[in-house]
Amino acid sequence: MDRKIVIAGNWKMNKSNSDALQLANQIKIKTTGINHTAVIMCPPFTALSVVNEVVKNTSIDLGGQNVFWEKEGAYTGEISAEMLKSAGASYVIIGHSERRQYFGETDETVNKRLLTALDSGLKAIVCVGETLEQRENNETMNVVSRQVKGALGGLTDAQMQDVIVAYEPVWAIGTGKTATPEQAQEVHAAIRNLIADIFNTEMSKKLVLQYGGSVKPENAEELLGQDDIDGALVGGACLKADSFAEIIRIAERLNRA
Ligand code: PEP
Repeated sequence: MDRKIVIAGNWKMNKSNSDALQLANQIKIKTTGINHTAVIMCPPFTALSVVNEVVKNTSIDLGGQNVFWEKEGAYTGEISAEMLKSAGASYVIIGHSERRQYFGETDETVNKRLLTALDSGLKAIVCVGETLEQRENNETMNVVSRQVKGALGGLTDAQMQDVIVAYEPVWAIGTGKTATPEQAQEVHAAIRNLIADIFNTEMSKKLVLQYGGSVKPENAEELLGQDDIDGALVGGACLKADSFAEIIRIAERLNRA
């Protein structure tokens, strides 16, 4: 496979600055010598600068967990793309299911955030995925395709090069339930076909498609071994240096194979 595996850690609302410093340092030490796998750490906004001090001269990239579409102004609690960049971020997660579920994120707001992030020079990890009810009603492909089209509306080919799509079935996030490699592969292949339709075949082949949902060292190899799974967005298992580094080492072995 010519796509490099990309492993991202979504720290969510975890880690004080001192804990963040410790975790980032441990991950850096434990992943020394990794050079075939791309690694992104997405700590909370408050810890971006702290983690940046640790990773700034390494190949590890830094990401935010959300971004607002306005440049500045009276938007209490929001963060702009320039602010993220000034704290050292080069990536941002957009449309995570927790944002959709608890904070009213819609396909439209995901699209606005994404366009702004890309315009500002950030790369993005755009999350899509169905709920358990939607899967049980056989709506998975409809939901995911609506989310992908909604998120990517209006993007140019050049902008699309800076987008990673993460398929994260909502029922597998933080639940310990993982999609089987076959279930994940099926949706990933469908997303890749959709990207070929919306953009072109070349773009669909280049697209990095991450899987997310209870990824851990025990299931990483099987998931990352699927043809259309090019990486993982890791929640719980990225909060411990040992498990995150182990997932990265597994990716590195696959990248080299
Ligand atoms: C996530 O938050 O993106 C995620 C996949 O979480 P977890 O790995 O804990 O399921």
